[in-house]
Amino acid sequence: MKNFSYVLKGKYIIKFDIIAKTGLHIGASNNSLDIGGVDNAVIKDEEGKPYIPGSSLKGKMRSLMEYAEGLIKPEELIFSKESKDDPIRIHMCDKEDCAVCNIFGRNHGKHKFVSGKEVVFENITPTRLIVRDAKLDKESITKEMKENIDFEWTEVKFENNLDRITSSANPRQTERVPAGAKFKGEMVLNVLNDEGTKYLSKVIQAMKLLEDDYLGGQGSRGYGKIKFENIKITFRDKEYYEEGRGEKVIVENAKDLSEIKL
Ligand SMILES: [Zn+2]
Repeated sequence: MKNFSYVLKGKYIIKFDIIAKTGLHIGASNNSLDIGGVDNAVIKDEEGKPYIPGSSLKGKMRSLMEYAEGLIKPEELIFSKESKDDPIRIHMCDKEDCAVCNIFGRNHGKHKFVSGKEVVFENITPTRLIVRDAKLDKESITKEMKENIDFEWTEVKFENNLDRITSSANPRQTERVPAGAKFKGEMVLNVLNDEGTKYLSKVIQAMKLLEDDYLGGQGSRGYGKIKFENIKITFRDKEYYEEGRGEKVIVENAKDLSEIKL
């Protein structure tokens, strides 16, 4: 077993708005009861409003970072779910300096790699990044928008698959949050030992990559383009928690990600 010595130096609190630039579809699980009766409903909170689950945001950011860091290779992909027809393979490794595993988490225990090798991880660090669910800002769905959408907060789109011989269509309904919707998001990044802003820059990088990718389903059909706006970053150190000292402002109020200089 390796020798560990970790001290929590503080937490970055990252607050932001997520703006849907195109319709956004983050699917509910199939068994959810939806009164609207749409085939393909979006996930909603206890008030019936769509939201962005922290797990969706975190999972997408992780996946984009895995590609960006060149970590998609058989000897570093584990089976997150082993299944003949429907496996889930993600990057996870035991490298002490792996930014993806250190930020987004590494599970302890034995892992089976796609290459067939089995390994018990020794570098067990706590997941540094916590991503909260992002709630819908009700005001962002304006009166005008409400006149054009199908439900209180969402619209329904018909997607067609055309048979190439008969041209007969197979229309399918997809519920989505309309473009213009705003969500209030928050992430917390733990800082251990002398890491400073090392991992904070990586988180910002992942947010930038996401803006040029998509969130949720049907991205290749144009869904899920988002933008981060009004970003505020503060640092809460040991004294903040022990003595109630104020937090340090790192980024006052950046209009968008391009304004952030660490
Ligand atoms: Zn890794």
